[in-house]
Amino acid sequence: MPIPPPLNFQASALLALLLLLDGNMFSLPEPPSGPLEKIFQYIDLHQDEFVQTLREWVAVESDSIQPVPRLRQELLRMMTMAADRLQHLGASVQCVDLGSQELPGGQSLPIPPVILAELGTDPKKPTVCFYGHLDVQPAKREDGWHTDPYSLTEVDGKLYGRGATDNKGPVLAYIHAVSTFQALEQGLPVNLKFILEGMEEAGSVALEELIRREKERFFAGVNYIVISDNLWLSGRKPALTYGTRGNAYFLVEVKCRDQDFHSGTFGGILHEPMADLVALLGSLVNSSGHILIPGIYDSVAPLPEDEKATYEAIELDLEEYCSSSQVERFLFDTKEEILMHLWRYPSLSIHGIEGAFDEPGAKTVIPGRVVGKFSIRLVPHMNVSMVEKQVKQYLEDVFSKRKSSNRMTVSMVVGLPPWLANVNDPQYLAAKRAIRTVFGTDPDMIRDGSSIPIARTFQDILQKSVMMLPLGAVDDGEHSQNEKINRWNYIEGSKLFAAFFLEMAKLQSQ
Ligand code: MN
Ligand code: MN
Repeated sequence: MPIPPPLNFQASALLALLLLLDGNMFSLPEPPSGPLEKIFQYIDLHQDEFVQTLREWVAVESDSIQPVPRLRQELLRMMTMAADRLQHLGASVQCVDLGSQELPGGQSLPIPPVILAELGTDPKKPTVCFYGHLDVQPAKREDGWHTDPYSLTEVDGKLYGRGATDNKGPVLAYIHAVSTFQALEQGLPVNLKFILEGMEEAGSVALEELIRREKERFFAGVNYIVISDNLWLSGRKPALTYGTRGNAYFLVEVKCRDQDFHSGTFGGILHEPMADLVALLGSLVNSSGHILIPGIYDSVAPLPEDEKATYEAIELDLEEYCSSSQVERFLFDTKEEILMHLWRYPSLSIHGIEGAFDEPGAKTVIPGRVVGKFSIRLVPHMNVSMVEKQVKQYLEDVFSKRKSSNRMTVSMVVGLPPWLANVNDPQYLAAKRAIRTVFGTDPDMIRDGSSIPIARTFQDILQKSVMMLPLGAVDDGEHSQNEKINRWNYIEGSKLFAAFFLEMAKLQSQ
């Protein structure tokens, strides 16, 4: 995707004007007036400082994945830096100790504390709780980074560094929005809470338990939860995310014996485990991507007309999407069908076979035991345990028709439900207005085809409205080499959060 040059507010207003003349998608943002005018000016003037803070945060190798004591110390240091920062804002900060993590091999590493912070307790104001994470995926220069992943490097308005977009940049943008109100001695329009963790990339170890424990205490006064940990659908048009798919991950084992066989000695007289497994995997989905498991589509939400219209409104250049993904042709030909099959219909993917002879060469082995791996992305209103039952039943039926003497075992190892928010919740309205003010356009209303379990966890446990308000562009490269956030996204994103606070307060007073 082409990335726009970094724009200041005036330039983005001009761009919006040009687009207004060109088409009718964008409308001219109202020039910010009142408190916003000063806030936007302040953020523009201080953007180099904001980039410098991001540089300091990116410099901490807060990798939560590799179980190395040195990295764990870095992670703890990162949490302390963030806690200090929040304390400087005047927040009351609590670092909740979560004990330690026992690793296979007897090693044990401390789990970084979760930061719970609170700023403002005015009963007349709404309370918005922000979730973010400060740990990152591993990154090494040798992996193909053009620059040192832990020293933030700016090239053409792009700030390259591990964690720049996932998730340190967005967390800092939120903090900058708060500190701007304070620097200008303007009262915060909302009460704020923060929950920041350091184990997100490692599966949010112990977080769910903590949220449960704090439900009646820390989260008691919270009205809204905001997460900014995903990306826009495009390079320049902002998005609001209101749903994610879940995931049910299965292992199917077919076993004759633990040892392999020689195909010259046994080939021709065996029920071969691999042949059974390939037939099982081949029975799951047809060549049009349709899942063949009976009943699997029964509880998929029907498609109302007004939902259809939301896909039409989303900007997506299909040709460009194909070529940037290096795919000749997708299963579907229209933008609407593509989006619906990524977001609101289930999909089944086959991931691999364990025990298969997967090195180059022509070894004549018959694997004695193989394990196939596949998963189903779940959508509203599919139910994890119902899906588990349907999958097991179907595979048993297919297997029994083969009259094989092997043993088959199916197990579901991950079961994450989908998440869907109500886009009419006040915070979605406030975010839309803030996006219009800052970017001069309505957001793409999007879902995420992947699973981001934290949203559903918050929704289930706390029963509060959850919103994902991303800042990063589609090509930010979370988890990959040369991860970046555009300076423009980072700075306009700080403005976006500030405008969002004001809109929330306006809604409350209406
Ligand atoms: Mn993340
Ligand atoms: Mn991540």
